[in-house]
This record gives sequence, C-alpha cells and structure tokens, in this order.
Amino acid sequence: MAGEILVVADQTDGTVKRPSLEAMTAGATLAAAHGCGTLAVVAGPGAADAAAALGTHGAAAVVTLDVDTADRAAWAEAVAGVVSERKPAAVILAHTAVGKELGPRLAGLLEAPLASDCIALEAEGGALIARRPVFAGKALVSVTGTGEVLIATVRPNAFAAKENAAAGTVEAGTVAPATRGLGAVLKEILASAEKKIELTEAGIVVSGGRGLKGPEHFGMIEDLASALGAAVGASRAVVDAGWRPHSEQVGQTGKTVSPQLYIAVAISGAIQHLAGMRTSKYIVAINKDAEAPIFKLADYGIVGDAFEVVPRLTEAVIALKAQG
Ligand SMILES: Cc1cc2nc3c(=O)[nH]c(=O)nc-3n(C[C@H](O)[C@H](O)[C@H](O)COP(=O)(O)OP(=O)(O)OC[C@H]3O[C@@H](n4cnc5c(N)ncnc54)[C@H](O)[C@@H]3O)c2cc1C
Repeated sequence: MAGEILVVADQTDGTVKRPSLEAMTAGATLAAAHGCGTLAVVAGPGAADAAAALGTHGAAAVVTLDVDTADRAAWAEAVAGVVSERKPAAVILAHTAVGKELGPRLAGLLEAPLASDCIALEAEGGALIARRPVFAGKALVSVTGTGEVLIATVRPNAFAAKENAAAGTVEAGTVAPATRGLGAVLKEILASAEKKIELTEAGIVVSGGRGLKGPEHFGMIEDLASALGAAVGASRAVVDAGWRPHSEQVGQTGKTVSPQLYIAVAISGAIQHLAGMRTSKYIVAINKDAEAPIFKLADYGIVGDAFEVVPRLTEAVIALKAQG
C-alpha cells in the first residue's frame, strides 16, 4: 500500500528518548497492519548514532536532519520537507513537550489533521484510525484523516517499546536545514540539578493526596517512590495547598500519566484526577475510606491508614529487592 508510516524521533547525544522508541514501535505495528513501510526522522547532534536504535525498533530507513532542535519552527519545517517528499500515510510523534510543539506545527505547515494524545492506532479497510480519550477519559474518539496524511501524537507508556529482531537495514540520509530568516538559536543547555524521573514517562508513579495532611508527610511518598524507582505525583488539592509543585500534579489541569503501575495514596478519586491517570495499566489505591471513588477504578485497593500502610509497603519493597 502506498505511503509509509513516518515517525519523528527525539534524541539526546545519540540516545533516543523512550517515548520516541514507543512511538517507533507503534508506527511499525501500524505499518505492519496497514501493509506499508516505515521511516524514522531524527534531528540534531547525535542523530546518526540514534539511527541504529530506531532500526531495531522497526524503522526500515532513517533520515537524519541537520537542524538546531532548539528551533522548533526550523525542526518542523525540516520534517515537513521530508513529509512533502516521501508522502507518508501518517506521521507519528510522542506526546511529549517536544511532540506537543512539533505536532501542531507540522499540522499547520502541511494543512493536515492532527490527532493528539492517542492511546491506540489502527488500520481498518485501508484507512488509518487514531483513538484518543475525550471528556476527561470517559470516552474514546476515533480520528480518521481526510487529507493525504494524518498526524498523530501518542501518549507515553500507552505503547510498549519493543525491539524488532527483523529490523530492516538502516539507511541514514541527511537533509540540510531550511534557510530561515528568524528563529531561536541554541546557546547553552543547562542540565537540571535534580535527577528526578520525568512524571509523564515514568513506568511507576506514586501520588499523594490531601489525606496526607501536610507537606512534611510526603517524605513517605518519596521513600516508596525511590524504593520502586518511581516518579512522585500529587493531586490538585495538594498542589493548590502549596505542598507540592504544579509539575507533579496529575489530572485534567495537570499532567496525564499512563504508567504500568499507579499508586494513589490518600487521594479520593475525583473525576478530574482520574482524567490524568485512568489509562494506567494497574492502579493501586490506598485510602482509609472504603467508599472513596478511587476504589471503583482501582485494580487493587488497600483500605487503611496511609501512615501505617505506606512505610510497611516501602519496607516490603526494599526487603524484596534485597532478596534479588
Ligand atoms: C476545573 C477543575 C480541574 C481540576 N483539575 C484537577 C487535577 O488536574 N487533578 C486533581 O487531582 N484534581 C483536580 N481538580 C480537583 C478535584 O476535583 C479534587 O478536588 C481533588 O482531586 C481532590 O484531591 P484529593 O483527592 O487529594 O483530596 P480529597 O478529595 O480531600 O481526598 C482526600 C482523601 O484522603 C483520604 N484520607 C484521609 N486521611 C487518610 C489517611 N490517613 N490514610 C489514607 N487515606 C486518607 C480520604 O478518605 C479522602 O478520600 C480539579 C477541579 C476542577 C473543578
């Protein structure tokens, strides 16, 4: 079938970001269902080194772009140039900060439809269908492109990143940057002093709510998260109270997470919170109120006092890890 599935990947120093590897795998799976080929486009210093990882995750060919990735407009224009030349059936990006900037820019440049934050991609009767949650995750909408190309961003952790042993040969080509008058210039990258796991990309998230009664009690959430190698999240009540930064807020007006495991501690389960975590694979709720709405969504529930349950859970995790 005409038209490849093109995946725009993000990398740093030659290492492809995990959400981009997930997007690559999602693209390769869609291409197999659609009966077409795959192409990855990767930009910036180290792009050539990133090509091999994209190949093992399903890219049959990789185009490297010689473009300053800090200049999102230039990056989008360079990708749009590849799209105009290769005429893919779909362009897939990870729904990360980068994907959220590039996706709409590409849609604008190519006058193409955009389906953002998708959790499923399918091929049906020759058409590509992207499914995305709406109404705070209560319903799924199916988006089918009416133009030549459909652009879709995929939610981190919604697709597994899988290495494909049957990966084709990677033929990296290079596209020079477009000549532009105005644009951002990358002067310096300052690494964050904090070595925190990015909430939206974490495989495990431990979130705390108002039932923890004060910021001083978040230490036990951090301890459990550290034992599990998880990111820390919070409900809006906690963020509004100034106990935790907004960057940790999960929900409708915070971040959307979709980890393998989401542990909600002393969180009631308001619809706006559920909107940000309901697609998590396994949900564990710890709440002293057996009637708390969070238990309706949870796969596993512990009715108990978080101040007793959480430290014991942390001890158990540490003991299990010590056993290897
Ligand atoms: C427009 C709008 C947008 C919103 N966006 C968001 C959003 O993005 N994210 C979000 O989270 N909320 C959001 N909210 C707020 C949301 O409606 C809830 O108010 C909020 O999620 C409640 O936070 P909570 O569960 O921490 O607190 P509460 O609802 O007060 O729940 C605290 C829970 O802790 C339990 N508890 C108390 N003590 C203990 C204990 N010792 N051990 C165990 N459990 C205990 C209680 O039983 C209770 O269930 C939004 C609201 C609006 C109107």
